[in-house]
Amino acid sequence: MNASQFRVALTFDAEHPDRPHHLVGAEDRLREQLGALEVRATYFVQGRWAEAFPDQARRIGDDGHLIGNHSHFHAQMQMFTEAAIRQDIKMAEDVISSIIKVDPAPWFRSPFGAGADDPRLQEALAATGYRQVLWNASGDDWDHRKTAQQVEDDMVNTALAHGDGAILLCHTWPSYTHEGLAGAVRRLREAGATFVTIDQLDQELVPGIPGLPKR
Ligand SMILES: [Zn+2]
Repeated sequence: MNASQFRVALTFDAEHPDRPHHLVGAEDRLREQLGALEVRATYFVQGRWAEAFPDQARRIGDDGHLIGNHSHFHAQMQMFTEAAIRQDIKMAEDVISSIIKVDPAPWFRSPFGAGADDPRLQEALAATGYRQVLWNASGDDWDHRKTAQQVEDDMVNTALAHGDGAILLCHTWPSYTHEGLAGAVRRLREAGATFVTIDQLDQELVPGIPGLPKR
């Protein structure tokens, strides 16, 4: 890898959407876009979403994307008791394993990144064979007050600002993600980016605690 080249991991949280710029049929459209762009991504799948939309969930795995666990109930994990934290992680794992036929371990992303610094969650993840995967770049595609162009620009600029090992937070459902994705991928490739999955990054590059990214 020469100085102008760097790795970017596109990550998508697949979950029940709760914002007004939710695109109907988003998950299949996103897969088609990624296929056309020849990008293999990492998906963090919410258990209850996969239960509700098993065909869409299965096709994500069929396309060969890396699959992680995005909890079952998509709650702020630190609000749970210690036993409930483990139960939530395992419920999602069971659903993902039975529907997508892939073991999501060891990749886990807390909903909202919440509770990542809670020792109870850290212990539960360690005990269940997971590690926390946060992000270090984001277009904030969940924020409907932005425009699609702002989301695209911020995806590009935050990934460029981080450089090698950029982990770009995206969601499957915002219309902005769909509008901005092709432009962001093109611009990042022009700047030297190679798109990888989380398991292709040096693990010390993957931030697991908010505010304290491991470098
Ligand atoms: Zn989420």
